[in-house]
Amino acid sequence: AGTPLYLGIDFGTSGARYALIDKEGAIHSEGKRAYPVPVGDAAAAATDWASSWRAALFQLLADIPPVHRPSISSISIDGTSATTLIVDSDTGELLAGPFLYNESFPDALPAVESIAPANHTVCSASSTLCKLVSWWTSTTTGGSRPAAAVLMHQSDWLLWLLHGQFSVSDYNNALKVGYDPELHAYPSWLTSQPYSRMLPASVRAPGTPIAALKDDVCSQYGFSKNCVVCTGTTDSIAAFLAARSSEPGRAVTSLGSTLAIKLVSQVRVDDARFGVYSHRLDDTYWLVGGASNTGGAVLRQLFTDDQLVALSDHIDPAVPSTLDYYPLPAKGERFPVSDPDMTPRLQPRPVSDAEYLHGILESIARIEAKGYNLLKELGATAVEEVFTAGGGAQNDKWTAIRERVLGVPVRKAQQTEAAYGAALLALKGASSLIS
Ligand code: ADP
Repeated sequence: AGTPLYLGIDFGTSGARYALIDKEGAIHSEGKRAYPVPVGDAAAAATDWASSWRAALFQLLADIPPVHRPSISSISIDGTSATTLIVDSDTGELLAGPFLYNESFPDALPAVESIAPANHTVCSASSTLCKLVSWWTSTTTGGSRPAAAVLMHQSDWLLWLLHGQFSVSDYNNALKVGYDPELHAYPSWLTSQPYSRMLPASVRAPGTPIAALKDDVCSQYGFSKNCVVCTGTTDSIAAFLAARSSEPGRAVTSLGSTLAIKLVSQVRVDDARFGVYSHRLDDTYWLVGGASNTGGAVLRQLFTDDQLVALSDHIDPAVPSTLDYYPLPAKGERFPVSDPDMTPRLQPRPVSDAEYLHGILESIARIEAKGYNLLKELGATAVEEVFTAGGGAQNDKWTAIRERVLGVPVRKAQQTEAAYGAALLALKGASSLIS
């Protein structure tokens, strides 16, 4: 085997990707596989997600050039947050789910709200805990609910296909089932519940070695017997990790269809009113996040991507636009203003499209600045430098506008793929074995 390589696999909302890196972070191979996209509840329910994911996982392993496979030291996988499966740990059989990240279980919400602290992140109908409680309530002991039933997050399950151990997870995925990364334990309001025995017993930092890659996988695909499988994380944290900005005050703004910000903070900040919550980062810091409904979706309603490029050419980013909009694709905002009734504001529209676009980009930048200010007001470390991911990162004029409005350096992130972040976790896991 040649130079050691580290494999990260991302299971996002529409497909799976892999990235194979060396210890310097250089990419040696990448690839992707699509699986059916969830459109509407009925179609989602009719799709055999677990089979699609399993197929995509092994297709990706088969896509890795055979020459690289013996050099792979470690593997990690990220999955969509709150995507949940119920599995029989005696047989490995899927008992229920997958319940997708965005599937809602309002039936379980009153029960969850009655045990969890007010405004806890589990108090959302799509949380992992609501999924678990909904399933628990709909089943009966012994009958449809075997004693060996366990809860697995999407990435736990995919990693399990590779290593075969039950009951292992990471503290990023486990947050939405109620795990407390500050306590390093499940809180007592959760452990006192009868279904708590279904929770992963061992919750570790992302990028912690779990076990060796299964023998049959090694021999079938030509991986090394020393290849170790490591705990994963959620897809949005993996995308954050890809930007390699893990010092306090560093942040990543994702300018895709929506605007999401993630800030490394010394202090944990949670505020359900704004949908703000903190993930543990590297056992040391907190990753505080918030997401606005503004973003590229509104731009796409008004302009094609080509028009965005052409019109941006005519913008002077040094000149502030006085146009004051609040671009939203539909009614309702959560962060940095919590107002379910807020209506989009995109008027008055000037005659010049370039002026109009300037006003919109500037207004979105103001919302971004307000977001970072809100996090600071809530107690988080002040932002010092912003990396940008998503379609909006391509727009240099917008970057310059944002730099002026935010008052801190703004640059495009070198790497933004979640698969790359997962590969960094694999590297972390392998390094922990050496040191
Ligand atoms: P997502 O994955 O959230 O759908 P992407 O990260 O692919 O989004 O980004 C797509 C968004 O980027 C679109 O909404 C589009 O309007 C926006 N976008 C594309 N090109 C530009 C540009 N040159 N300037 C600003 N925004 C852009």
